[in-house]
Amino acid sequence: MHVNFSAEELRFQDEVRTFLRDKYPADIRQKTDTGVPLSREDYIRWQKVLYQQGWAAIGWPVEYGGTGWSPVQRYIFANEMANANAPDMVPFGVKMVGPIIYTFGNEAQKKRFLPDILASNVWWCQGYSEPGAGSDLASLKTRADRDGDHYVVNGTKTWTTLGHLADWIFCLVRTSSDVARRQEGISFILIDMKTPGVTVRPIITIEGEREVNEVHFENVRVPIENLIGEEGKGWTYGKVLLQHERTNIAGVARSKYRLTRLREKIMQPIHGGRPLVEDANFVRKMAAVEIELKALEYTELRTLAAVAVGKAPGPESSLLKIRGTEVQQAIEVLFLEAAGYYALPYVPDQYVLDLPVEDRIGHGSETTTSLRYFNNRKASIYGGSNEIQKNIIAKHVLGL
Ligand SMILES: Cc1cc2nc3c(=O)[nH]c(=O)nc-3n(C[C@H](O)[C@H](O)[C@H](O)COP(=O)(O)OP(=O)(O)OC[C@H]3O[C@@H](n4cnc5c(N)ncnc54)[C@H](O)[C@@H]3O)c2cc1C
Repeated sequence: MHVNFSAEELRFQDEVRTFLRDKYPADIRQKTDTGVPLSREDYIRWQKVLYQQGWAAIGWPVEYGGTGWSPVQRYIFANEMANANAPDMVPFGVKMVGPIIYTFGNEAQKKRFLPDILASNVWWCQGYSEPGAGSDLASLKTRADRDGDHYVVNGTKTWTTLGHLADWIFCLVRTSSDVARRQEGISFILIDMKTPGVTVRPIITIEGEREVNEVHFENVRVPIENLIGEEGKGWTYGKVLLQHERTNIAGVARSKYRLTRLREKIMQPIHGGRPLVEDANFVRKMAAVEIELKALEYTELRTLAAVAVGKAPGPESSLLKIRGTEVQQAIEVLFLEAAGYYALPYVPDQYVLDLPVEDRIGHGSETTTSLRYFNNRKASIYGGSNEIQKNIIAKHVLGL
């Protein structure tokens, strides 16, 4: 996509590039370039560098520590971050609960929570889904019963991404069952993970990693001042958050970066053979993905522009989520195809993270190609499955 940047925007692009070249820690860069997962410490260290620069919360209003950037500046930033293969902020604090707190929270909550989110002093996770309440989220059963100036929380959340690393969790809980619609009586509360009665258990995913968890609450006492907004209105707040989450999931800039890497890869003779660029069928498949991605990029820019003038992303966030994740998955399939049988050495138990860089093939070893492929199966499920997004589009766009 060609965007005619103004002189000022080109200066901004240069500033971001210089910053990434000088301040993105070399050891973290080496890990991301070779497919080695980052530690919690790596993330926090990098996020604090962004914070020092004033770039931790690019979407927040300036009064809370945001950048006040235009949609084009955000677009430039996302693209430069992706081109440098620099990790994005972990979303749960800055992209998810932060906006809910500054939009619906009271002054005391803003003062208490926002600075620590901005500075990456506190790691958050998201407690929405439950066993039996994923797509049908309104059927959630985790209860928060009032007891004096506390809620007493009981229940189980599941698929909690990076919950084992988190200090706090934001949860949708049921505070009343005496309601006309199931969406009523749900509240949005913040829980300190160190509170007695909170237990985190791992879920090992298909690629053999621990990324998601089950979080159990047994008589967990939560002060009522941790309730966001009005009791029973959590569904409304939670929905706003999901729309932002879905817009973020599209990952257009990252997909563009991955396609660039793939293009480089297919130009090289593969393991002594001929380069894949000579395979017309492969090139055709790659071009089809690239066209999808370009169309998606325009849609994302339109959504960014709407958000910049204060609108919440509407049903277009569902469209972005579906297409964005389909493109991400299609790219990983192409990588897998390009690796051919060199992708086979992947076996979870034997996965060796400290493989020397010189022993890795291309950009990340073929082993990480398999890992990425398997890990990315999740993209069409989390943030609300793609089938559910299609239902949302049918209802809110097509009026069916
Ligand atoms: C890797 C990963 C990370 C996640 N991280 C988090 C997290 O941090 N916090 C959190 O709260 N949740 C998280 N989730 C949960 C995620 O939001 C749910 O998995 C998702 O909403 C689907 O719910 P479910 O797993 O209960 O599947 P179900 O709702 O049981 O759905 C099963 C299948 O049926 C389909 N289906 C269900 N209902 C309909 C319908 N009405 N029409 C058409 N098809 C339908 C679905 O599309 C799906 O294919 C994560 C999930 C994954 C996989």
